[in-house]
Amino acid sequence: MKIHEADAKSLLLAQGLPVPDWSVARSPAEARAAAERFFAAGATRVVIKAQVLVGGRGKAGGVKLAASSVEAEAIAGQILGMSIKGITVRKVLVASAAVIVKEYYLGAILDRSSQRIVLMASAEGGVEIEEVARVTPGAIHRVAADPLLGLLDYQARALAFAVGLGGPNLRDFVRIAKGLVATMKANDADLVEVNPLAIVRESGPDGQVERLSCLDAKVTLDDSALPRHPELERFRDLDEEDPADAEARHYDISFIHLDGTIGCMVNGAGLAMTTMDLVKRAGGEPANFLDIGGGAKADRVAAAMRLILDDPKVEAILVNIFGGITRGDEVARGLIDARSRQSRDVPMVVRIVGTNAEEAGRLLEAAHFETAASLDEAAAKAVAAAKGAAA
Ligand code: GDP
Ligand code: MN
Repeated sequence: MKIHEADAKSLLLAQGLPVPDWSVARSPAEARAAAERFFAAGATRVVIKAQVLVGGRGKAGGVKLAASSVEAEAIAGQILGMSIKGITVRKVLVASAAVIVKEYYLGAILDRSSQRIVLMASAEGGVEIEEVARVTPGAIHRVAADPLLGLLDYQARALAFAVGLGGPNLRDFVRIAKGLVATMKANDADLVEVNPLAIVRESGPDGQVERLSCLDAKVTLDDSALPRHPELERFRDLDEEDPADAEARHYDISFIHLDGTIGCMVNGAGLAMTTMDLVKRAGGEPANFLDIGGGAKADRVAAAMRLILDDPKVEAILVNIFGGITRGDEVARGLIDARSRQSRDVPMVVRIVGTNAEEAGRLLEAAHFETAASLDEAAAKAVAAAKGAAA
């Protein structure tokens, strides 16, 4: 699950990281009021930032500075409602604008190949890391945190030196690097990224000082770990969530959109992948991965059918159920019910084996469903049906 910058910043703040104070506004008037507070507290400029779950907001015109609260209101008016990569901006973050001396990139990822949290840093801050990786891969420096010992100070210092940070910023950098790893662990995140991590100039009682500050934050949470973190559910933005994802989650269905034309409804993740392989071997392309899970009842089958048919690319449906805890007759009833109510008619091939398969076969036959005895046969029939539909 992706979360907004403001929410990601609150997770960094909870680990004691230096994040500039912010407010979230949903209207130009709210943005103005927030800006007034920052100006009253001594800000010379404020930054207004679109809160959307995509990167590259700066380039798209979603990050702007304002020198007065009136200007802040006008800029918030421009940014709110604008579309960034197809997503409508509904909220902006308002903060006292930092005076940036230099921008760096610092990110923690869960690296599955090394099975560790890997910290990446680059002196090419503010630029999207994928772009840096493509153009100047040598500019990205990495260290892996030990699963037991965590990130050690010397590793963080090595990373700082690699990107040219030293002197008074070194201690801050070590603290921030360790804080990113702590944020990963505390929230079961897949990614915690600060881009830019910036050297900012501030005027203090003893004149100008420079320090490191987390000006942007991006956190992606591990969906499979979310049940362990009910407190993070409040960060879910239903406005930006694909409605199909929301429905799938509601019914406990694992569902992933793909590019093909054969809708697949299967129980069990392994069987679902095998089914997709066989669709390909039969000359077709799966339109989705869909696992209805164990013990699916008729309502879940009907929901799975809706999810599959909502994809206009789908030209045929292949249902492959291996009855164990899942009862074949229950699935058959769900299919019959779903088809009687579905919005469009596409060819469907059903293979049900295992628990109550005979009963399922009788029900499906009576309802004139096309059935198949083997998975190869089912895949071949579904692919042929899709080709027939496309012709
Ligand atoms: P992104 O484009 O979606 O990654 O949004 P960022 O929050 O990273 O902002 C994009 C760019 O805007 C940064 O790289 C900075 O150059 C600039 N920016 C962001 N916050 C501030 C700020 O407080 N002060 C100044 N001067 N520039 C900022
Ligand atoms: Mn950024």
